[in-house]
Amino acid sequence: MLFDSIIYGPIHSRRLGVSLGINLMPIDAKLCTFNCIYCECGWNTPVLKPQLPQREEVKTQLENALINLKKSATALNVITFSGNGEPTIHPDFEGIMTDTCALRDKYYPDAKVSVLSNSTQLGRPDVVRALKMADNRILKLDSAIDQTMRAIDQPLNKKLTVIALKSLFLPFNHDFTLQTCFLRGTYRRRIIDNTTPEELHAYYQLVEEIAPKDIMIYVIDRATPCPTLEKIEAEKMQEIAGVLRKKGFAVSVSM
Ligand code: SF4
Repeated sequence: MLFDSIIYGPIHSRRLGVSLGINLMPIDAKLCTFNCIYCECGWNTPVLKPQLPQREEVKTQLENALINLKKSATALNVITFSGNGEPTIHPDFEGIMTDTCALRDKYYPDAKVSVLSNSTQLGRPDVVRALKMADNRILKLDSAIDQTMRAIDQPLNKKLTVIALKSLFLPFNHDFTLQTCFLRGTYRRRIIDNTTPEELHAYYQLVEEIAPKDIMIYVIDRATPCPTLEKIEAEKMQEIAGVLRKKGFAVSVSM
């Protein structure tokens, strides 16, 4: 499923509440530095010159949407950067974040600004600055084991490691949300399951090292590009949440 506009919603997000979405990626293609086997937008689309929206266009469309929501007295919990891929790929992400926070302050001062990100662009100082402006940085980590992380997330950088990802979280001084999708299935004849005892042991250890301010764990909810994936049972998700809570973390579970 691709979002066919820059601004979409508001939608009722399982994890965030009433959310107005901002899609900085093309409206006719998915563009991401990961190619997760569970991505609701499908596989990455090969495009030679992806058309990304200009900063001014995003600002105008966001302001129009916020004005209309105000007029209809619609409640809004959050403005969320998500959409057809990784939002921080946009070269003007910092400027767009500046505009977004200013518009939020003007029209919905109580709403949060959130970014769903896979962290791969956090080597860029402008992206770190932009994410620090947001209220919620929701950063992905789907496994503490390199081979599983690569099998699930299919990073374009085939040598990406969990240690490298972990180091990219450092600038936020633990002030971010860790998001993890739990799943099992097969891809290219390989069994993938990030809920095995070995996986969870490594995951719990890594979470303690990273110490995020809170954790979102969730299961697949819609059709996935890899068709063999299974939704993890509620009991298992509650078991994982229970272990994390015992370690002192605030955890939300989205089923
Ligand atoms: S990081 Fe997000 S947008 Fe990118 S492939 Fe994974 S789920 Fe899809």
